[in-house]
Amino acid sequence: MVYADIILPLPLEGVFTYSVPDDMASAVKSGMRVVVPLGRSKKYMGVVLKVHDVKPEFEVKDILSLSDTRPSVTALQLRLWQWIADYYMSPLGDVFKAALPAGLKGEDNYRPKTERCVTLPEKMRSGQSLHVVLNLLTQTHARKQKDLFEQYLSLSHWDEACSGGSRDDVAELTCEELLNEAHSTTTTLRALVSRGFLTIYEREVGRIGHGGEAHPENMKTLGEAQQRAYDEIQETFKTKNVTLLHGVTSSGKTEIYIHLIDKTLREGRQVLYLLPEIALTVQIMKRLRNVFGDRLGIYHSKYSDAERVEIWNRQLSDNPYGVILGARSALFLPFSNLGLVIVDEEHETSFKQQDPAPRYHARSAAIVLASMCGAKVLLGSATPSAESYNNALTGKYGLVCIMTRYKNIQLPEIQVVDVKDLRRRKMMNGPFSPVLLKAVREALADGRQAILFHNRRGFAPMIECHVCGWVPHCDKCDVSLTLHKSLDRLTCHYCGSVYYVPAKCPCCGSTELRSRGYGTENIEDRIREIFPEARVSRMDLDTTRTRNAYERIISEFSSGQTNLLIGTQMVSKGLDFGNVSVVGILDADTMLNNPDFRAYEHAFMMMAQVAGRAGRKSGRGKVILQTRNPELPVIGEVVRNDYKTFYKELFEERRMFHYPPFYHLVCVYLRHRNAQVADEAAADMARLLRGMLGERVLGPDRPSVARVKTMSIRKIIIKLEAGISLPRVRECLCAQLALLMQNKRYATLETYYDVDPL
Ligand code: ADP
Ligand code: ZN
Ligand code: ZN
Repeated sequence: MVYADIILPLPLEGVFTYSVPDDMASAVKSGMRVVVPLGRSKKYMGVVLKVHDVKPEFEVKDILSLSDTRPSVTALQLRLWQWIADYYMSPLGDVFKAALPAGLKGEDNYRPKTERCVTLPEKMRSGQSLHVVLNLLTQTHARKQKDLFEQYLSLSHWDEACSGGSRDDVAELTCEELLNEAHSTTTTLRALVSRGFLTIYEREVGRIGHGGEAHPENMKTLGEAQQRAYDEIQETFKTKNVTLLHGVTSSGKTEIYIHLIDKTLREGRQVLYLLPEIALTVQIMKRLRNVFGDRLGIYHSKYSDAERVEIWNRQLSDNPYGVILGARSALFLPFSNLGLVIVDEEHETSFKQQDPAPRYHARSAAIVLASMCGAKVLLGSATPSAESYNNALTGKYGLVCIMTRYKNIQLPEIQVVDVKDLRRRKMMNGPFSPVLLKAVREALADGRQAILFHNRRGFAPMIECHVCGWVPHCDKCDVSLTLHKSLDRLTCHYCGSVYYVPAKCPCCGSTELRSRGYGTENIEDRIREIFPEARVSRMDLDTTRTRNAYERIISEFSSGQTNLLIGTQMVSKGLDFGNVSVVGILDADTMLNNPDFRAYEHAFMMMAQVAGRAGRKSGRGKVILQTRNPELPVIGEVVRNDYKTFYKELFEERRMFHYPPFYHLVCVYLRHRNAQVADEAAADMARLLRGMLGERVLGPDRPSVARVKTMSIRKIIIKLEAGISLPRVRECLCAQLALLMQNKRYATLETYYDVDPL
């Protein structure tokens, strides 16, 4: 009899063994998808990990059907999944769920081949018809319909096309994209369709790979410093598998990557290019497509599932993409002949998946993937992570530096503004200092652009009763609610719950509810008032819910259609705009005051990165850095772009207090509906762990937000010195957890680990 160990998409440890019916026995292979029964009536699609003839001791059921004629998952991918499951202590089933696009997991019974799109009916396509419709909607007080209709016109550019513009610029919009961007509902859309103002059609999806021919001649000739770095990288690859390229912002790292990709492709091998954020893929995609044409495939979560399935299958075919550009999930694609992995902006924390499991770091997983494939890894950053920098200093990784910008343009001048002092002298205009406003005004007058960086979205981080100090909190989480003025709602940034803005204070009845602090939405409003002539756009989570939205905001800013960009950390990431002369960092303090041992590190990186957006092409840029703590050494280090000193001090501190990169951290999280049970379980678990690991165990403690979605959360931190056996520690953790779970009180306790937390 033949048996198969199957990975099921369930958060359960281990694999499940099934018997293989005789008629399938010769066909079933590791990596193929099968459908199996589970429990009394459930069926799941799983992936075969191993076929063998060891009869299990329990009774096994038959595999119901085989879904593949050739493996959908390669042996190498299975090994990577197992590494991730082991290292990050997450069930293999969770890795499987993260790795495969839904369409391959059999989650969509019918695989959509089309998407529903919206357009203007033929008879409506004139300025006059539009005018009539808009009037009609106004007269009938159909405010929501009118909003949606107007949004559609502007998003699709039909408004311009109907007022004399070209129809070539009209953009196709799916219903989903439209509703997302317009914050509207299907009901409203249906009403417009039934009135004949809009029409819906089906569009075929999965039109991948029309990137055109490759154009190696479009590659730029490297400058002197770039060429030296390129040669050094090649040299380090002779002895190291991983090299860190530490190059200041705008030193031309991307061009170096392009040359390395070209070389790897010419050697007949594949390249994986990882970026931390989907926002970034837009610009880099254009630069790569320009050289590599349709040898380039793009893969990330904003792509439709059907497209992702197509790319997956193409990578399994005889004609796979040579280069894959993507966010972290791209490392789960099948590669047949990987030669180089580039991890761009390697310091970015978004490379680490937070929720759900597996809580893996894409940089580490990529390094493991590369070593399995015999490929080299290039990590690139202007502000390398402590982990990578330490590995480079100790010689584990190669290190190549470029300390000058391309064309020797000077790094921006950073001017620190003491907000505390200005507030005392009543010279601040809301969140803006006079220096900042002056700099922005001059930039705009000169036909240049400005970026304002503020790391809080929404209108205000909280509202407060002016009389009694009451602040609205989320019912389900221990956090105050953020005011979103455009939605006229309060929202919880932890669970997404939405609340009405109360008309009066529920504690004292006062109607004097005031907003406190600033979010990007508020900043945008104020900027529009101060600079009515500016063409402003905003980039944050709220304005970029769809793939199109990113592209539009970035391309409009690149082309100069907009000239003032306001945004959260999204604008700090490696974007390349040529005409930005001023960058404002509105509030360095929220970043610095974060109660986390990495707060300074993250703040330094964020400020250095966002400053790096200024003055990239035409002349030296200027950065205005607003803070209440100008005397802090980290501020001076940002001003001097003194990465080395910053890290020297950071490392001393980290070494002394036993933190990464010198120690590994593992967090154990315990969650329960009942706060008391959570406390007890955490105390018990900490005691059990101390019995085995002694002083390495810290806590239990409450995380800074100790209740999310009605679950109370407790956290135990384990600090592990270099050289300790991680597999042994994992075993110990699992054993102690099993002991803990014997207590019936903890039956509904949820636990999970975060290995190398950020
Ligand atoms: P980084 O990735 O280090 O921030 P980029 O690669 O984005 O830097 O380079 C900054 C700008 O300089 C880009 O617009 C890029 O096109 C331009 N650039 C860099 N290297 C060259 C080169 N060798 N020839 C022409 N332009 C270059
Ligand atoms: Zn009150
Ligand atoms: Zn909440």
